[in-house]
Amino acid sequence: MIQIPSPQLIQKYDRPGPRYTSYPTAPEWSEAFGPEQYHSHLARADADPGPLSAYVHLPFCREMCRFCGCNVIATHDTTRADAYLDLLEKEIAMVAERLPRRRAISQLHWGGGTPTFLDEKQLARCHAAVARHFGFAPDAEKAIEIDPAITRKSQIDVLADLGFNRISMGVQDFEPRVQETVGRIQGEKETRELVEHARARGFHGVNLDLIYGLPFQTPESWAHTLDRIIAIRPDRMAVFGYAHVPWAKPHQRLLPVDKLPDTALRVQLFLMAAEAFGKAGYRQIGLDHFALESDELARAQDGGYLYRNFQGYTVRPADDTVAFGMSSISDIGGAYAQNAHKLKDWGDHVAAGRLPVERGTAMTADDILRRFAINRVMCLFRLDLGEIEQKFGAAARQALSPSLIQLRELQDDGLVTFDGDVLRVTPLGQLLVRNVAMLFDAYLPKHAKDKQQTFSRTV
Ligand code: SF4
Repeated sequence: MIQIPSPQLIQKYDRPGPRYTSYPTAPEWSEAFGPEQYHSHLARADADPGPLSAYVHLPFCREMCRFCGCNVIATHDTTRADAYLDLLEKEIAMVAERLPRRRAISQLHWGGGTPTFLDEKQLARCHAAVARHFGFAPDAEKAIEIDPAITRKSQIDVLADLGFNRISMGVQDFEPRVQETVGRIQGEKETRELVEHARARGFHGVNLDLIYGLPFQTPESWAHTLDRIIAIRPDRMAVFGYAHVPWAKPHQRLLPVDKLPDTALRVQLFLMAAEAFGKAGYRQIGLDHFALESDELARAQDGGYLYRNFQGYTVRPADDTVAFGMSSISDIGGAYAQNAHKLKDWGDHVAAGRLPVERGTAMTADDILRRFAINRVMCLFRLDLGEIEQKFGAAARQALSPSLIQLRELQDDGLVTFDGDVLRVTPLGQLLVRNVAMLFDAYLPKHAKDKQQTFSRTV
């Protein structure tokens, strides 16, 4: 269980830094990586016989939540989803054509936006667009993110019939004052009813997302939210720190900055969640997730096969993820490739029959090594140099040694231990783990001057 760092330590390590959902992180990607490069990495991925992971980005939401960090289109016009699906079908066909041999999917994830902005017919159409070209492994995980405030039980029924088995619902906070301020009103009753309905329809993994660090959150109001969340008893929970990045997300300027919890209160809110969930039988997974002891994430943590990607923590990552829809990110054939960020640009490319990739990066051998090391630190709070040597060769250990020398200060501050072979993040260092991962990031020194405007704060 996470320990409370002293205010001095928090102050020292609360600095801007990446969240490491990818490495190299997005600021390193370049527009020199475009459709042609994506094409060649798809060809490389096609030679791999393993199953794929697939992500579909559905960007529409009825309203814009003021804390949102996603790429979203706020609209009440549901027919816009039909036009989007026309293009999505075309993009999926274009990519599938370039993966003639690799058509098995072991994980499907729909995110957004709000995928249940789509009505029942549109949901089925979206699934058919994927299923027309790809097959699903018998034990495939099919996951969807929903907004309980706008999701009907009949939509859950359609998703269950399509084989979806994991569902993730944003809750953020049940406190009315917080909800009104962030522009997202959502009752406890509707959330609970939807969870019950999803379970009755065979969803075996229900995840609820909370956010700490929102305006007007207090220890008392937060304790109340935690109690009510625990009473719903989801299988997994994620407790994200609100990232205030108004230079990248201008709508966040609508939030009252003077009502945002300060760092000390943010830490307190997170630790309250960790303690309450621990007492209720949940295990902490990585930085910000919690899972019932019976959940496969807990077993993966014990077995050392827990991974992290853009969609969160996972136990069975396919080696490659192919992504569809505006702004979505593929991680395929040794490269990250991101689709055009704006709906119009993405649509224009697809309509013209071009792969809609706007930027990306081809990973070097050093990137792959460091990605592995960072993943280990962020998921398992541990990095074994013996494992590094076994997997990447003796030179890899050498390549990481400058980072290990810099560990000294973190050791002195009690955030990590290192016996010459195994680095362990201590319970005290877990809340500050992004700082440990940052040591292995070869690109970070480049951002010494502009870090403030590039990354969110690490606490
Ligand atoms: S519903 Fe989710 S994706 Fe949509 S605006 Fe709110 S937080 Fe963002």
